[in-house]
Amino acid sequence: PAAQSGAALNLHNVTFTYPGQPLPVLHNIGLDIAAGEHIALLGRTGCGKSTLLQLLTRAWNASSGEIQLNGQPLNAYDEATLRAMTTTVSQRVHIFSSTLRENLRIAAPKANDERLKSVLQQVGLDKLLENEGLHAWMGDGGRQLSGGEQRRLGIARALLHQAPLWLLDEPTEGLDAETEQQILALLRQHCRDKTLILVTHRLYGLEHFDRICVMDGGKIVEQGHHAAL
Ligand code: ATP
Ligand code: MG
Repeated sequence: PAAQSGAALNLHNVTFTYPGQPLPVLHNIGLDIAAGEHIALLGRTGCGKSTLLQLLTRAWNASSGEIQLNGQPLNAYDEATLRAMTTTVSQRVHIFSSTLRENLRIAAPKANDERLKSVLQQVGLDKLLENEGLHAWMGDGGRQLSGGEQRRLGIARALLHQAPLWLLDEPTEGLDAETEQQILALLRQHCRDKTLILVTHRLYGLEHFDRICVMDGGKIVEQGHHAAL
């Protein structure tokens, strides 16, 4: 299948067991997500949120059941198309030992410096541009970023990539409440016509999401709008 502007997801009876483990961590997940829908995936630590996102990027294959993207089995997509269709911010954002520019450009090799500076400013990381600008060295032998700064760099990459499906794993963890709300507002603005799945621990600040899915023990146990939960 070719890349499309929207991204609808259908999970049918998805069960997943990590290799070598005795028990599944996801049990019979059924979930239909319309193109353009904004979903918050909520649940306690260890309930399977990150694992579910990893199945959607095909980091792992479902042990049974089926995942469809725009009506086609996820397995029918080639790597490059799938990568072009998804923007991910994983729970641990990887910072390369390289310049700030290269750390951003991995998400958008053609982006010019103005664009890079603009997204840094949008996520509140323009401070990193002081002194050496985009030449600043990150990671080993350079500037070590705090957890919150790493997250925001991950979000800056996502803003550069702009795919139809956004999978964000706790992108605001470690940020103060005010910065968290700014980042959520920014994501809302950038994802207006995109499909967004955002993993979080906290119900707070999720009133703008179309739906909140609550997971527990590898299952979706409740879903609905913020007001109803
Ligand atoms: P958190 O909120 O702490 O990030 P989570 O909901 O994202 O938790 P997962 O990371 O999906 O939870 O983990 C679900 C379960 O799968 C946990 O019991 C975890 O220990 C287990 N698990 C995660 N990764 C692996 C792995 N690579 N191999 C085996 N088990 C794993
Ligand atoms: Mg997780």
